[in-house]
Amino acid sequence: GVLVAGSANADFVVRARHVPAPGETLLGGDLSVFPGGKGANQAVAAARAGGAQTAMLVALGDDDQAKLLIRSLEGAGVELHIRRSARSTGAALITVSDEGENAITVAPGANADLRPEDLPPLDDIAWLAMQLETPLATVLVYARSAQVQGVRVLLNAAPARALPEALLRAVDVLVVNEEELTALVGEHGSIAERLARTGVAITVATLGSRGAVALVDGDYLVQPAFVVTPVDTTAAGDTFCGVLVADLAAGEALAAALRRAAAAAALVTTRAGAQSSIPTRAEVEAFMAE
Ligand code: ADP
Repeated sequence: GVLVAGSANADFVVRARHVPAPGETLLGGDLSVFPGGKGANQAVAAARAGGAQTAMLVALGDDDQAKLLIRSLEGAGVELHIRRSARSTGAALITVSDEGENAITVAPGANADLRPEDLPPLDDIAWLAMQLETPLATVLVYARSAQVQGVRVLLNAAPARALPEALLRAVDVLVVNEEELTALVGEHGSIAERLARTGVAITVATLGSRGAVALVDGDYLVQPAFVVTPVDTTAAGDTFCGVLVADLAAGEALAAALRRAAAAAALVTTRAGAQSSIPTRAEVEAFMAE
C-alpha cells in the first residue's frame, strides 16, 4: 500500500471584490470551509485512484477543523494515523477576488508538530509519499527510514524551496512544478538539463496546461496534457502526485501511471473545490476513454 505523510489544512475561503490592501477591511461573501492541505489532498487522490490501500500520517489539533479533515479522509477510504497536537489544526485563510486573484495566509499549526518518532511501522507499505508542508527534519528522517526498509519514496517538493542533498539521495521519484524545479536547481538550461541536475533517478516536472515531462535514468518521457476547460486548478498538482504514487504502488509502469495522473489532474481542474472534486478511478477511466 501507500503511506502519505504530510499536511492537512482547513481552507477558509471568502470571495471579495478584490484582495484587501494592507490596513484595508473588506466585506466579502459567505465563509466556506473546505478540507485541504497538500498531504491530505494527495491521500484522497491516492485512495480514490484505487489499486493500492492508502494510509495517511497526519498531525491534527483537537477542533472542528480536525473533524472536517478526518471525515473527508475517512470518507475517501484513507486509513488514518493521527498525531494529536495541542496546536490548532492547520488552516489556510484564503481571499479570492472576483478577478480570480487570491491572497493566502497559512497557519501550519499542528502540521509543524509532526515528529520523527511519529512514523508508523512500514510493514505493508510499498511507497511513502511526502510534501514540504511539514518540518523538513521530519521529512528527511522518514525518507531515510523508508529507504533502509526498502520502501520507495515519492517527494513532491512543494511549496518551492531548496533542499539538502541528503534528502534528494533518499528519494526515488521527485515531482515538481516549474517554480519548484527552479528553487531546486536554478533556471539555467533546458528542462531536460535541469531535471538531470536534481540527481534523483526519476524526476517529473508538471507543466500545467502543457502536461508533464519525466527524466528516467537519462530517458526523457513526455506526457501531454488532456485538453479541458479549467474552472479551478486547485489540487491539480496534488491529484497528479496522489494518482501517480497509487499507480506505481499497484505495479503500473511509469508511462501508464503518468498518463492516468495527467488525466485525473485535468479532470480535477474542471471542477470547483479541492478534496471534494478529486475524481475516482471510474471517473478517470471514463474520461480517458472519451
Ligand atoms: P501545480 O498545480 O502543482 O502548480 P501544475 O499546474 O503543473 O501543478 O498541474 C499539475 C498537472 O495537472 C499538470 O501536469 C497537468 O497534467 C494537469 N493540469 C494542470 N492544469 C491543466 C490544464 N489547464 N489543462 C489540463 N491539464 C492540466
